[in-house]
Amino acid sequence: MICLGIESTAHTFGAGIVNNNEVVSDVKDMYIPPKGSGIIPREAGIHHIEKSTSIIKECLEKADMTMKDIDAVAFSQGPGLPQCLRVGGVVARMLALKHKKPLLGVNHCVAHIEVGKNCTSSKDPVVLYLSGGNTQVIAFTEGRYRVFGETQDVPIGNALDMIARSFGLSMPGGIHIERLAKSGKYFELPYVVKGMDLSFSGLATEAIRQYKKGVSMEDVSYSFQETCFAMLAEVAERAMAHTGKRELLLVGGVAANKRLQEMLNIMCEERGAKFFVVPMKYSGDNGSMIAVTGSIYNRPIEIENSDVRQKWRVDEVAIDS
Ligand code: AMP
Ligand code: MG
Repeated sequence: MICLGIESTAHTFGAGIVNNNEVVSDVKDMYIPPKGSGIIPREAGIHHIEKSTSIIKECLEKADMTMKDIDAVAFSQGPGLPQCLRVGGVVARMLALKHKKPLLGVNHCVAHIEVGKNCTSSKDPVVLYLSGGNTQVIAFTEGRYRVFGETQDVPIGNALDMIARSFGLSMPGGIHIERLAKSGKYFELPYVVKGMDLSFSGLATEAIRQYKKGVSMEDVSYSFQETCFAMLAEVAERAMAHTGKRELLLVGGVAANKRLQEMLNIMCEERGAKFFVVPMKYSGDNGSMIAVTGSIYNRPIEIENSDVRQKWRVDEVAIDS
């Protein structure tokens, strides 16, 4: 099956084409907020409107295909920012109707998991899904991807972006924090694990407060990373112990972080488990992950039932095992 996938949940508008789960083309462009600001949803939506045509055209050209070659159009139906989601929804519906193709509504979180599994040899992992909009520890049990732990406030990527912004650095902030942390020293920050859930908001506020009191960007970055990543490793390990699963899969934009990968790898080695990480190319939001997931599940939806779903949780999706 040849599937065109469209991603537009937040900052990225992306299109990808997969042929029997093999990515043949992937094109994307990211909205960059003004300096010192987070995503302004209306502006991100306008970015997606302006870029959508050229991105889809380029994606088809790179695959050396036209819409005639496409068997189905998949789109990120949720969760995400409504102003952004709606652009992908409109574009996907329009393409499906005009070219008489089935329309596939994909859950963005399931897509991060499926592209991770598709690119690695992991079979039945505990998934650590860490991005700008989500932080969840997930595992497949009884027909669903269930959430075993999650953030109670801001997602880890968002917290990294907040700290980078307080330093006057641009988005995506996680990359800057990773670079600065390489030459930082440790000081203690609040370590907030509540049962299986996590909280990053107070931790980020304290890190920013310390920076404003004169602690260097390097030390704040290093200490913030060490604290958050230790919290995430703890919860992931507990989920692995509880479910008895022997694989950990790291997905989402924050998966690109080498220090995080190193810490999780050590944890997995110590318990004789295998550690997998989604390739950097597919860690951030992209159209291919939507195309991969659309073709795996291949569940066409009616145009009338294709409204975007802003708060569509991963554990609401029934999965055929
Ligand atoms: P996503 O929402 O999945 O596209 O991921 C975007 C998030 O990933 C943003 O919050 C970025 O700051 C974060 N990110 C990107 N690269 C890195 C990195 N190397 N280390 C930590 N976070 C990162
Ligand atoms: Mg994402």
